[in-house]
Amino acid sequence: MKFLIVANWKMNLPTNIDEWLNNISSCAQADQVVVAPPTPLISRIDLLSKSGQNVSQHKSGSLTGEISANILKISGVKYCLVGHSERRKNFGETIDNIVAKVERLLEERIIPIVCIGESISEVDRREIVLEKELSRLKPFSGRIVIAYEPIWAIGSSQPMEPDEAFKVKEFIQTIVDAPVLYGGSVDSKNAFRFKQAGLDGILVGKASLDVKEFNQILMEC
Ligand code: PEP
Repeated sequence: MKFLIVANWKMNLPTNIDEWLNNISSCAQADQVVVAPPTPLISRIDLLSKSGQNVSQHKSGSLTGEISANILKISGVKYCLVGHSERRKNFGETIDNIVAKVERLLEERIIPIVCIGESISEVDRREIVLEKELSRLKPFSGRIVIAYEPIWAIGSSQPMEPDEAFKVKEFIQTIVDAPVLYGGSVDSKNAFRFKQAGLDGILVGKASLDVKEFNQILMEC
């Protein structure tokens, strides 16, 4: 598998979306670069792989505002983020919801990118916290991607040391067979270090909104 680079725009837009789309590096390839824009903009992403940021745990129904895995599929989505810490914190998502969402995505042959990570107060019992989640994800071995995102590193300008992130990847893979991405304050200055350390890819939030910065990340990796 190529080193995967996933851009998570969250509920943000690049300053000028047309400029972003027109200037994304021609070296960016769809099997390596994935963009998770706000859902209505998925169709604007054409040359790169598309990802959802969230999916309903239900197949269909009277659930105004929700997006099903089937709807993502017909929108051309290849991947979908699940269980981002912002969804857990702001929308009360639990591991039960996350497992149901993974099931819905796999039914539609969409690859779930499941986000896990410890909070600052959980750092000293990281493995216990992660193991609890990983034991629920183990049945999906070989069918999902894990994004390890220490919550304290997200949007903090303080990424985890790449060697430490690699050790967490090794721990994750003792339980679940999945490629492991690192996310949390990745930018053009540190992106390559995560590749060098042996991570399988990166999940990039803020730094993916600026096309020059994102192209620099692509060039480094
Ligand atoms: C994220 O929230 O998934 C993320 C990686 O954000 P940032 O790169 O801005 O820390």
